[in-house]
Amino acid sequence: MSTPGPLLEVRNLHVTYGAGTRAVRGVDLKLSAGQKLGIAGESGCGKSTLALALLRLLPASANLSGEILLDGEDVLTMRWGRLRAVRWAGASIVFQGAMHSLNAVHRVGEQIAEPVLLHGKSTAAAARRRAGDLLEQVGLPAARADAYPHELSGGQRQRVMIAMALACDPRLIVADEPTTALDVMIQAQILRLIGQLVADNDISLLMISHDLSVLADTCDRLAVMYAGRVVEEGPADQVFTDAQHPYGLALSAAFPRIGDPASRRAPRGLPGDPPDPSALPPGCTFHPRCPVALDECATEDPALREAGVGRLAACVRVAAVPAPGLPPA
Ligand code: ADP
Ligand code: MG
Repeated sequence: MSTPGPLLEVRNLHVTYGAGTRAVRGVDLKLSAGQKLGIAGESGCGKSTLALALLRLLPASANLSGEILLDGEDVLTMRWGRLRAVRWAGASIVFQGAMHSLNAVHRVGEQIAEPVLLHGKSTAAAARRRAGDLLEQVGLPAARADAYPHELSGGQRQRVMIAMALACDPRLIVADEPTTALDVMIQAQILRLIGQLVADNDISLLMISHDLSVLADTCDRLAVMYAGRVVEEGPADQVFTDAQHPYGLALSAAFPRIGDPASRRAPRGLPGDPPDPSALPPGCTFHPRCPVALDECATEDPALREAGVGRLAACVRVAAVPAPGLPPA
């Protein structure tokens, strides 16, 4: 069944941990079938919270509101049985630390076969064969199915995680910092692999990274998150080379090349850290660090506004520049 709407649509999503840690504050996102959307932002900006919310994997302390429509169906109101079916087959997640996500005492082949068995009508033998095929798809010999996680390198373990994510033919893969723990050479290989697999299988990709250059290389569109909000969105190459929000600009200046680990917490040229989500500053949450802040930024919190064709930015300065839209009729 094909649907005319987007594959994933997030509407006004808020996530608050406990009484007042406002990790995600009114995020709207759309992702169509086969599209690759990158989410950028420093540590603590709410990227993982957003990723986990998409499949309702957040701890019980998290309060959610808004809508997360997967093929038009709201993940937040799904019954458990339906949610179980949607996890893996509708959308699956690749996390950063493959060592922590894989079970140390089970062979990796069994772990890849497990979702196939849980969700399909496969026999154990067919699920084992499928695990071997998946390993080959991610560039590992099928015989590695017999290995335990500790017998594999970091890059190989991340390949196993990707094989698991592919196991039930999902329509969407959410990859949360899938290469951050890997060294630069391996990072590039894994990124190429993810890009190729999603293209070959017509899977949509939501890829999260603190590293804008990684996302610009892999994704069609980019959203930049700051303090729980999307502050800039647009075509990936444009956001990377010509950011409209001062934070987007600082991030793109911080990552001149793929895999610069030093920039993870403190982008070059940008002092300080993102604010504590339980004590957000008034006005624009970025103004205390913003090199071009105006007086009004201390009191006015700008909403996302048009910043060129297919582009949005949440900055009062954007309004001063007329968007290069279509000429008046
Ligand atoms: P990112 O992935 O961008 O680094 P996170 O979504 O992990 O950001 O975190 C956003 C904010 O939410 C941070 O301030 C973090 O400390 C807080 N946070 C994350 N998980 C929890 C949790 N389980 N309980 C309370 N606060 C959390
Ligand atoms: Mg994270």
